[in-house]
Amino acid sequence: MKRSFAASLAMAMALFALPALAEPVKVVATFTILGDMVRQIGGDEVAVTTLVGPDGDAHVYEPTPADARALGAANLVVVNGLGMEGWIDRLVKASGYKGPVTVTSTGVKPIAGEEEHDEAGHEDHDHGHDHGAFDPHAWQSVANARIYADNILKGLVAAAPDKAANLRANHAAFKAKLDAVESEIKAALKPIPRKDRKIVTSHDAFGYYGKAYGVTFLAPVGMSTESEAAAGDIAKLIRQIKKEKIKAVFVENIADPRLLEQITRETSARIGGRVYSDALSAADGPAATYIDMMRHNLAQFTKALTPAS
Ligand SMILES: [Zn+2]
Repeated sequence: MKRSFAASLAMAMALFALPALAEPVKVVATFTILGDMVRQIGGDEVAVTTLVGPDGDAHVYEPTPADARALGAANLVVVNGLGMEGWIDRLVKASGYKGPVTVTSTGVKPIAGEEEHDEAGHEDHDHGHDHGAFDPHAWQSVANARIYADNILKGLVAAAPDKAANLRANHAAFKAKLDAVESEIKAALKPIPRKDRKIVTSHDAFGYYGKAYGVTFLAPVGMSTESEAAAGDIAKLIRQIKKEKIKAVFVENIADPRLLEQITRETSARIGGRVYSDALSAADGPAATYIDMMRHNLAQFTKALTPAS
């Protein structure tokens, strides 16, 4: 068969272009919640490596040589920012990575680290043990997750403009899921009186959730898990649980349950279940994606808060 020069050229170009098109964007995300969002938006166009794995604590992570190698081979690095990953700058430097870094929380209205997000006004609830200037757990509000999604889309499109159409379609689908889960959260909490929406968790990871959906969260440990609960803070929390008759205490997947178990022994509060704060579950767990995490936490919270009739 005789081919025209133009046809041969087109074939040759297609052969060269094919591997480039098939090559996924190599993305390193610092922890599982961000890794999932990158997968949702990136789809088949990305290969995601997540540094801190399921149920891992990204506050106090110690990077490994394998992490540095993953960064060294990456096309894009995706981080939370707001002081969440205190270890990332050193890791980027050590890896020699010189590429773009998407900070997913860019554009979020941050909650100040010192700010009292307990609207009930407990003057003695001291957040002085928090180190960061800002609360990093912005993803716990779905409105912020939309901002995260937009930042991730922007980063991926910049890294692979040829994949923009697919990325935009995936992004739109993910945002529709975010809208749906946000409506579910608002609808499920609505019948619960504001004054009854009080929850104790292991550390202060739900400030944005509380602000967005009108829930008061209390914790024996501050916004970072770096510092341990002080005896005075635990005693104060126990007094508060008793005074306000708080029933709902939740163990976080990333935290040691013993402190909260101790607190429930000294009060009438019960462990209401296990919620996911800073990390997703493993793939076969109840919170393998961001959307599943928000649904799982909502189900746990509402079950504990709904008064027995
Ligand atoms: Zn945290």
